[in-house]
Amino acid sequence: MKKHRSGTNRRGFLEQVTTLNIMAAVTGVSSVRYHDADQGQETRIPWYRRTLRWAQTNITEIDPARYDIAWWRRHWKRTNIQGVIINAGGIYAYYPSKYPLHHRPEALGGRDLYGELAYAAHEDGLVVLARMDSNRAHEAFFNEHPDWFARNAQGDPIRNGEYYVSCINSPYYEEYLPDILREIIERTHPEGITDNSWSGLDRDTICYCNHCQRRFQEKSGKDLPKKRNWDDPGYRDWILWNYERRLEIWDMNNRVSKEAGGPDCLWLGMNHGTITGQCRQFRDYKSICKRSEIVMLDFQSRSDRDGFQRNTEMGKLIHGLLGWDKLIPESMPMYQMGRPTFRLSSKPEPEARMWMLAGFAGGIQPWWHHVGAYHEDRRMYRTAEPILQWHKINEKYLVNRRPIATVGVVWSQQNTDFYGRDNPEELVDRPWRGFTQALVRARIPYLPVHVDQIEDDRTNFSVLVLPNVAAMADRQVDAIRRFVQSGGGLIATGETSLYNEWGEARPDFALADLFGVQGGKSFRGVDESGSRLGDTQHTYLRLIPELRARVYGPHIGNEPPISGERHPVLKGFDETDLLPFGGSLQPLTVNDKVNVLLTFIPSFPMYPPETAWMREPKTNIPGLILNESGKGLVAFLPADIDRRFANDNLPDHGDLLANLVRWAAKGDIPLEVEGRGLIDCELYQQAGRIILHVVNLTSAATWRPPVHELISIGPLHIKLKLPPGGSAETLTMLVSGKTEEIKSMDNWIQFVLPSVLDHEIVLLE
Ligand SMILES: [Zn+2]
Repeated sequence: MKKHRSGTNRRGFLEQVTTLNIMAAVTGVSSVRYHDADQGQETRIPWYRRTLRWAQTNITEIDPARYDIAWWRRHWKRTNIQGVIINAGGIYAYYPSKYPLHHRPEALGGRDLYGELAYAAHEDGLVVLARMDSNRAHEAFFNEHPDWFARNAQGDPIRNGEYYVSCINSPYYEEYLPDILREIIERTHPEGITDNSWSGLDRDTICYCNHCQRRFQEKSGKDLPKKRNWDDPGYRDWILWNYERRLEIWDMNNRVSKEAGGPDCLWLGMNHGTITGQCRQFRDYKSICKRSEIVMLDFQSRSDRDGFQRNTEMGKLIHGLLGWDKLIPESMPMYQMGRPTFRLSSKPEPEARMWMLAGFAGGIQPWWHHVGAYHEDRRMYRTAEPILQWHKINEKYLVNRRPIATVGVVWSQQNTDFYGRDNPEELVDRPWRGFTQALVRARIPYLPVHVDQIEDDRTNFSVLVLPNVAAMADRQVDAIRRFVQSGGGLIATGETSLYNEWGEARPDFALADLFGVQGGKSFRGVDESGSRLGDTQHTYLRLIPELRARVYGPHIGNEPPISGERHPVLKGFDETDLLPFGGSLQPLTVNDKVNVLLTFIPSFPMYPPETAWMREPKTNIPGLILNESGKGLVAFLPADIDRRFANDNLPDHGDLLANLVRWAAKGDIPLEVEGRGLIDCELYQQAGRIILHVVNLTSAATWRPPVHELISIGPLHIKLKLPPGGSAETLTMLVSGKTEEIKSMDNWIQFVLPSVLDHEIVLLE
């Protein structure tokens, strides 16, 4: 099919894409071609670049008897979706498979429910992904092929409920599943395949089946590890071997699918929305994103620890690996998913809405999800429609954008695995969560940066944050050093760089020279379980210089005049000489040239109150060290303020982290927002346009889902820096619909958002 493009600008191009979507869909082709009049070349838009709204009705065993296809087709239309995910095979086959062990639910009889739905979807112009769940099988299957299933150390089959867990190293994955994929593709020609549970057993269980024993021996020359032991090189080999195997499966399934269905027939394992989750399942996010054209994200809810901003952040993190020109549809449940889960009850509308909108702000595409084809709580059918309607109208502003941020927060999966080991939540996730929450709270735009992409992204950032990135390879350390040498700012916390890539202790911080310290060996005081980290102890940090003491010496009386000046990173703390801490610190030797701004005050009793006085009011143990290294500013926080902020939510900790970022960035932060409320701010760029997302996170349930009602905030006074050479004359608000003329001054633009209920998107053109 050919189509001539009429518009010349980006908007015209994107509108063209949308039109083509519809045309391609109507004709049932999975990719379209059109002639680009300006470029004079043909451009091909495959389904995985243009399917922006998705739907999934997860079919239960009894649904074949009650699936009202006509009703769901109307619902597809009402919600403006462009692609559907339809259960095809795996644990259950929803079509008459020629493979007798491919278990069909009783209610299916001879019906081809999957085929009927795939046909209807194609007829409606929708993209079809056939859903698989390859992780388990029924007893009859196990009885036929007992050697295709995972075994524990005693040789017993590993079960999950009534099902048997298939082994990823067995012919179940190498022969049987490829046959099923070919059968599904040949019967119905779906655009692709997606698998909900494709990566086999998770890290907690070692499979001792014959296939695993033989293959691991061939690969490593070793026997399978007897137990979890992160210090055992054999166990580490087993971890890496498992990661490799998942990538082999990814590649193998893609080969099979493309051979059967053509080059655009992709196989897409679903991926999780946390790095810890990906680690547990041996899914190497970086390598997966490198080989995939689209990520099907299975991240359905927030926890009590997380706000909606976690969804925004996950979109940014995955785009950082995948590229910003690709899509990340995310399964968004319309039922009460999370804690607690009620599959058949509607998720409170504000909770579902905010999860979706927060996803949009991070470049995620909507994919509504129901479990079961019939519901007595029909409220869940109302949630998606208005949001997807809005999405359709504004889709061109929600994809194909480049983020604008001067702060990069560094992460690595290897740090979660080999430093986090059995306690990644405490050791890795909380420092991350605390630091990024401080940035959100301060309205400082940031991007997650994979530690191996620092070199690629180096010029984009003014400052890099390493929140307890303890396990680092030498080359990663060198990349950080080069970033600082070239004038970049650095903030590192806790045990950053104190371990090598295997999580083995180094003699000192690998970045000791940048931090301006020595003695990392004695600093390490974290016990193996990490339990000490989680507790909040009765400790403090002393601010240096002490403003009162400087004037009076040890003082008497409550209100002496305050004199002296704090360093800018201690802004806002003029009336205190100490901050609550909660953590524990070990001594470190600091170099002559550094500036120590916080020192540790050890724990002393809280109870009874008569005993609550400092036994040791002053130590030389540093809590915050500032250093200048070449042109770059470095802040090292031995004090785990980021983890403390995640644990204890004290505003002082958030303020301190934000102050440090502003200082290390030398003021290079493109956004300033004044006004009340917790908001997430994301900045993007398209040709001739700046896009600002503001997501209102303020509610009575900010930290305890589900949110019951939305609370409007505003006015917000916004100051935004245009990129070099940028200009803007008009401002459009995509939610409230307001438009106004604007003027820029010295490359900055100022405007007011009168109010924000759920979110707002501001276009500056
Ligand atoms: Zn096995």
